[in-house]
Amino acid sequence: MNFKNTTLANFISRFGFAVNVALLTIHISFLVMFALLKVNIMVYMNIVSVITYLSLFVMLNKNTTLYLILVNIEIVIHMTLATFCVGWDYGFQFYCLANVPIAFYNDYLSQRSSGKRTYPVIFSMVIMVIFITVRMITFEIPPIYPLEHKTICSIIFSANIIVIFMFLIVYMTVYENLTLDIESKLKYNAEYDELTGLANRHRTNEVFKQILGKASKGKVQLAVAILDIDNFKKVNDRYGHDTGDKALQTLADILRSVESRNDFACRWGGEEFLIVGTDEDCFARISDKAEEVRTKLMNCDVPVDDENAIRISISAGVTFYNGGENIEHTIARADKFLYEAKSSGKNKVITDNETARTV
Ligand code: GH3
Ligand code: MG
Ligand code: MG
Repeated sequence: MNFKNTTLANFISRFGFAVNVALLTIHISFLVMFALLKVNIMVYMNIVSVITYLSLFVMLNKNTTLYLILVNIEIVIHMTLATFCVGWDYGFQFYCLANVPIAFYNDYLSQRSSGKRTYPVIFSMVIMVIFITVRMITFEIPPIYPLEHKTICSIIFSANIIVIFMFLIVYMTVYENLTLDIESKLKYNAEYDELTGLANRHRTNEVFKQILGKASKGKVQLAVAILDIDNFKKVNDRYGHDTGDKALQTLADILRSVESRNDFACRWGGEEFLIVGTDEDCFARISDKAEEVRTKLMNCDVPVDDENAIRISISAGVTFYNGGENIEHTIARADKFLYEAKSSGKNKVITDNETARTV
């Protein structure tokens, strides 16, 4: 998975623009509001902010780290000035809380894209000190523009708190989705084979653990067929590794076609695959499915180039889980029957009851 170029790039291009539009809208609203209240210092401040956010559109996708640092600085300056102008009761100081997730998110982006740290802990501590200092100063010095109207104060306070909470909620939702997305991609890559898309050995062992852990081991119904491509080294040597890969994909497609609710297939390793049945009477069914895969594969073309194709075959051994035994023993037994199939001419399925189905 190319994390840097896919998830991250998508994320920034999808949300970066929306965030800047939101910040711009908020500052235009502040500009109008402070103009109506005749708080001139904040009118000038918001003219600067609006120009800043307009010009920041250019920087959004070019230098995200610098963009977010400038957003952080703007928020600190804005909240400090607004608090000095109208006082603590209007809630402008709480905007600095939004700086903490922005700073950490910036560090995450920066480390992902260039490996450089932006020190969000130190940054957050500095903002905390500024926050406390502003509080201390406003204890001593009255607001520059004392606004006496309680209703206006309540409306502005509520609006500020709503905006801050909305920011935190949206931010946390986006961050949670991003984390879940990355986790599911990592999980998929850890559990599924890239070439064939089938479950890999790790995932299959997890399923075995689940099945064997669920019921008392004596009651577990489990059948395993192990399949191995015949003379595969020759296919690689004669037609090249790419054709070998196509052969693996062809077999995987056939295996997928025989999967069902209680039966699944996996790439056990290299050119060895398993079909596993997990319910009553699965032994007979898995034996039949191994045979079905063998015959289907024999009739299936594996393309070598635009004009030529080859046919390949598999051999398989099928067995069932013997109550209480270790699953490795079950697979080793299936392997023993596979070996028998190989040593008795290949292209056949040999089952545990010694019934060979030959071509
Ligand atoms: P047999 O009939 O006895 O099974 O003989 P074989 O030639 O198939 O021998 P073996 O099973 O030991 O061959 C395994 C080969 O599978 C060797 C290896 O190069 C090839 N192989 C394993 N994984 C891959 C893969 O992902 N792609 C390709 N193209 N070849 C692979
Ligand atoms: Mg092999
Ligand atoms: Mg082989």
